[in-house]
Amino acid sequence: MSDEAFHTKGDPAVKEIPPKAPDLSAWYTAVTLKAELVSYSPVRGCVVLRPYGFGMWENLQRELDARFKDTGHENAYFPLLIPEHLLMREAEHVEGFAPEVAWVTQGGQETLTERLAIRPTSEVIIGVMYAEWIQSHRDLPVLINQWANVLRWEKATRPFLRTMEFLWQEGHTAHATAGEAREETLKMLEVYREFAENVAALPVYAGAKSASERFPGAIETYSIEALMPDGKALQSATSHDLGQNFSKAYDITFTGADQQIQHVHTTSWGMSWRMLGAVIMAHGDDRGLRLPPKLAPIEAVIVPIVKSGDDAPLQKAREIGAALKKAGYRVRVDDRDQKPGWKFAEWEMRGVPLRIEIGAKDLESGSVVVVRRDLARGEEGQKTTVPVGNLAAELRPLLSAVHDSLYAQAKAFLDAHTFRVSDRAEFFAKCADRSGMIDIPWCARPECEAYVKAETSATTRNTRPLEPGDAACVACGEPAKVRAFFAQSY
Ligand SMILES: [Zn+2]
Repeated sequence: MSDEAFHTKGDPAVKEIPPKAPDLSAWYTAVTLKAELVSYSPVRGCVVLRPYGFGMWENLQRELDARFKDTGHENAYFPLLIPEHLLMREAEHVEGFAPEVAWVTQGGQETLTERLAIRPTSEVIIGVMYAEWIQSHRDLPVLINQWANVLRWEKATRPFLRTMEFLWQEGHTAHATAGEAREETLKMLEVYREFAENVAALPVYAGAKSASERFPGAIETYSIEALMPDGKALQSATSHDLGQNFSKAYDITFTGADQQIQHVHTTSWGMSWRMLGAVIMAHGDDRGLRLPPKLAPIEAVIVPIVKSGDDAPLQKAREIGAALKKAGYRVRVDDRDQKPGWKFAEWEMRGVPLRIEIGAKDLESGSVVVVRRDLARGEEGQKTTVPVGNLAAELRPLLSAVHDSLYAQAKAFLDAHTFRVSDRAEFFAKCADRSGMIDIPWCARPECEAYVKAETSATTRNTRPLEPGDAACVACGEPAKVRAFFAQSY
């Protein structure tokens, strides 16, 4: 979606979803609008998350929040506005975020004597509070997460992937030692990786960012990276070891057991609604969305096949809907006055994992037809006949099967588009072609990365330790320090 199109009034009328492969961007925009996930708004760079999109966000939030609680974290909430003098204290952080910060300069009729930044991220305001709260080693660790909106001045607009204001969570922790902070950083990276696979059905590569791709002010940044159908990588979450950079800038100290005053070691980690963009792009097909069941606002839609004068299927649909709701499923009975075929297409487009069809014949036999969205029409296993009495028990394994098959399809794609390359010319060609994740032994030198980027637009996505036999950087021939995935990216 170009800026220009964005400024046309209201949503562009999307009648049909174009096929996915020829123009992923057009498909993506059409599907996010037509499935009623988002709407463009009169506010430049900002989208409205509609109820169906917010339902996905709520499911992401619930799943991730449970994982944060399981790892000992608590939620809190900090102010949206940050006084300028506070923001200026951590030099790298300021430099990194300065071009993206929006400022409040006026309140009512009064011109402010000090500008207030709208948070682009909350290390600063949270650091200032931690300096107040933390006195002794007994106060550590502090393990807090915030669910919030942030604002970063952006020119382009693309739902979930690039918007000025977006929703996310940001975890901020403080520890007594460097070792504990690093352990926390890696623990949360693993939480994100596990969430991506088991909730979003997305296989990802987890690893450390190169120095140039690090979060401003971090001593190490880790990420999970997913691969999109156009061969571009999408960074889906990050976890930062901030060392003592922020604790020194914001004077967060504690008295150790040895009575010495020391600076704490801090971390921060975040996942935003960008993850939903990755899910939409990775799993969707020419018919529209295919939502992983754990993120789907509706797990199963019930469509009665009503012939005039016989509303028994509708009654039965409502009865089954109520029973499934009671059994803990997110279901909807589609009792709208539309033809069943129209409803089938609509719910397929909106990515509902399972469709339950109830016709007069099914009622006689005491069973219904359950149709899986992840499989192609007519594919083996796409339709199953289930006795009504077994529905509540059989839907859960069917939903798991949908999740597993979406994951398997995405994994097969990632595997087929990950290339271990040892030839320099092949490396540059694959990077330029946007072939996928190009895996090489790498020198870890910023100059080498900058050269590859200038030649091909590809950057390092993340890195991991060398493997036996790795010697020279495939890009430049200098000694290799790490293994790196290169790719073009969102
Ligand atoms: Zn190199």
